[in-house]
Amino acid sequence: MKLHITEQVQEKIWHWVDKADFEVSGLGIIEIMDGVPVVTECFLLEQEGSAGETELKAESINKAEFEHRNLKKGEIRWWWHSHVNMSVYWSPVDKETIKQLGTNGWFFHTVFNKERKCKSAFSCPQTIDNEFVKEKSVYIVEEIPTIFWTTIDKEKVKAWDASFDEKVKKRERIGIEKPWERNGKGNKKKGKEADQRPFTKTASNHILGRQEAIAEIEDAFEQGSTDAECEFFFEAEIRRHGFNIQALRALYQREKYAEGYGAY
Ligand SMILES: [Zn+2]
Repeated sequence: MKLHITEQVQEKIWHWVDKADFEVSGLGIIEIMDGVPVVTECFLLEQEGSAGETELKAESINKAEFEHRNLKKGEIRWWWHSHVNMSVYWSPVDKETIKQLGTNGWFFHTVFNKERKCKSAFSCPQTIDNEFVKEKSVYIVEEIPTIFWTTIDKEKVKAWDASFDEKVKKRERIGIEKPWERNGKGNKKKGKEADQRPFTKTASNHILGRQEAIAEIEDAFEQGSTDAECEFFFEAEIRRHGFNIQALRALYQREKYAEGYGAY
């Protein structure tokens, strides 16, 4: 179970949350779309601003329901409020409200703060009815994921994609023979154990482009090839692109260690 919030509702809520230096609260309309609850509208309740906890009055809910009695889609089934600069959690008053609102039917609840954080909950009636216990209570899920809908301008995304394709080159593994993968297990064996077959340059008539060559050289480093081996195998690429194997290895190691996030 996840609560979805449309972009229009988010904008309005964040605006009100940013605007007030005290807790504001309101309700919202939920529509079920393909079985999923979506908050499609929200509004403020009449309230007196105070720094403390927001108390939801039955009369203000009734009033809101009356104002929205001609609703074509959805129902008022969402309670939201802000915690201003405080963290988002359920205070005892909040928990009481969540319970009350879930007495007559399901209800969703979300608390926001100015840090753009939020937390959502769900409540609904539950009945225990057996030979021993007959009881009506409220079922509560204190934390459910909140999904914020975004509609991004498609033209913008096209431009972002074009920029990505231009600047970010995928490291393609091309089908050339990799002599550094002796025995197919890399070149990690040492001494007598190592495969003594000499390198052969079967792919020498194809010179790799700059990015592909760097990727292949890094792969050779990864497989344990020495500088001399790399210089031998990538002779043509080194000449074509002006590579310096020692410099490439230094760069490769820096990047590799950087990926370890302080492991070194
Ligand atoms: Zn609260």
